[in-house]
Amino acid sequence: MKVRADVAELLHAGLPDRTIARELHVDAKGVSAARVALGLPKAKPGRKPAATPEDLFWRRVKPTDDGHMEWTGHTSAGTPILRHGGQLHTAYRIAFHIANGRDPEGYALPSCGREHCTKPGHHEDRADRVREKRVNALYAGIFGTPE
Ligand SMILES: [Zn+2]
Repeated sequence: MKVRADVAELLHAGLPDRTIARELHVDAKGVSAARVALGLPKAKPGRKPAATPEDLFWRRVKPTDDGHMEWTGHTSAGTPILRHGGQLHTAYRIAFHIANGRDPEGYALPSCGREHCTKPGHHEDRADRVREKRVNALYAGIFGTPE
């Protein structure tokens, strides 16, 4: 079976099926099936694993109908943020980390065209932007600069 990335993330984080179902607005039976499919043990009741920034992130995003994600948590000057371990993180940074398995270089910013999008995979960091600039310059060198 195909397991949704956000469901898998919370399953790996050790959250109980019902919590995941509630957080992500999915069917608890589906979450249980996904747990079996991933070969993960049942979450032990009463033992709460320490929440990671990623856990907090998944609890604060809401998928949109057009394939992006909205932030339901706090914002600062329009930027989605969350507090973890006494530190503020931008949701963009965490989304970038989830999608790329590494921290962004410099700022991670939405690159999908939707303002304040928090869907993992919809952000780029400074390295991505530099690369894109280089590619654009290369194209401009070949095809000329568009008007
Ligand atoms: Zn997006």
